[in-house]
Amino acid sequence: MPTERDLAADSSHQRAPRPSPTQIGNRKLSAQTLMLGYGFDPELSEGSLKPPIFLTSTFVFESAAAGKRFFEGVTGKRPGGAEGLIYSRFNGPNQEILEDRLAVWEDADDSLAFSSGMSAIATLLLTFVRPGDCVVHSGPLYAATETLIAKILGQFGVSWVDFPSGATREEIDAAIAKGKDRGRISLVYLESPANPTNQLVDVEAVRAAVDAAFPADQRPPIAIDNTFLGPLWAKPLSNGADLSVYSLTKYVGGHSDLVAGGLVGERELINKIRMMRNTIGTICDPNTAWMLLRSLETLEMRMSRAGENAAKVCDFLKSHPKVEKIGYLGFLGEGSRQADIFKRHCSGAGSTFSLYLKGGEKEAFTFLDALQIANLAVSLGGTETLASAPAAMTHLSVPDERKKQLDITPNLVRISIGCEDADDLIADFANALQAV
Ligand SMILES: *Cc1c(COP(=O)(O)O)cnc(C)c1O
Repeated sequence: MPTERDLAADSSHQRAPRPSPTQIGNRKLSAQTLMLGYGFDPELSEGSLKPPIFLTSTFVFESAAAGKRFFEGVTGKRPGGAEGLIYSRFNGPNQEILEDRLAVWEDADDSLAFSSGMSAIATLLLTFVRPGDCVVHSGPLYAATETLIAKILGQFGVSWVDFPSGATREEIDAAIAKGKDRGRISLVYLESPANPTNQLVDVEAVRAAVDAAFPADQRPPIAIDNTFLGPLWAKPLSNGADLSVYSLTKYVGGHSDLVAGGLVGERELINKIRMMRNTIGTICDPNTAWMLLRSLETLEMRMSRAGENAAKVCDFLKSHPKVEKIGYLGFLGEGSRQADIFKRHCSGAGSTFSLYLKGGEKEAFTFLDALQIANLAVSLGGTETLASAPAAMTHLSVPDERKKQLDITPNLVRISIGCEDADDLIADFANALQAV
């Protein structure tokens, strides 16, 4: 876990920060409790209960020797990262508290905050992938991630091989073998559940396949986009992933009022990614970090409520005569491979699902236009319920053949359930279905 020297910006105090407890007696404190105070010492900020927002581009060194020591850390001349704050492209107090608290949810060594989910993913790829390398990934991925790997890194001589999200160990083995023929596999990149298919990736099987395919000192890192179920319902680091990536814009931010990204995981990998972030400046700003600290205080409550709401709404929708089928993780076929992965990897079914209406685009649009509580908007994970039509919106530019393969049909409505009253949402959906 990172240290909490962070608020020593007022160096006149000249004293060590008070360590925030992570344990009382034998009791290891829960993530929910730690979100309220961990990583921040009020005494270093005039007794302020809440961290101030540190709007500064640079930090004053106590002495020239201290400045040199800090730079040794930030440039990697000395391991362990910077001992103090230098310049706001590298880090700041608000971002450091945020990073301490993000790491808590997955019991990670360390964490990094970014200006968006995509800037986190781009910084990760730039850290590990070089011309001639091959990225092995699950598919489908978030559209911008697919573009970044195939189209943009492709221009720099990087290739890729994918396997379907729900792949078996044999299929994963085959993808790795194919990837080795194309170049050095420098990163294995996963996304689970996939959007909009909701297919879960067997992270344990991926780890076993990677362990079997490489000597320990040449094993590529395994990173996974955990935006949809993390950090509450899925903790992929515990299933064998090395890095967990987040669009904090979604459930973690949770109020549809900011854009940010995060990465948690193994210390040495995080240190390498931090060097890249320091160079290209993809860190989030202090105001966004502060807002994320506020969001983290209610993360567990918001996600739990949204999850309960989604279960009730899906129960209502599943037997409705105008509904063809529902892609919701709470309804996985007993005994299926997906249900087995769910049992091993997930503690909740989430609140984002796919609703297939009987009919086509006309029916989907009539339904969307008739909603009164649910908002017609893309994105997910906010306090308010959102609904959209992927075939006509987020996935409009996906080739028809690929759309068919991914079951992105014109009658598909993607729904992210929020924190409203569940029965009010059911009334809204019942009413909109009646209009179809
Ligand atoms: C939104 C999203 C992203 C991109 O995050 P931004 O914060 O919009 O950059 C990446 N992956 C998944 C799964 C997402 O939903």
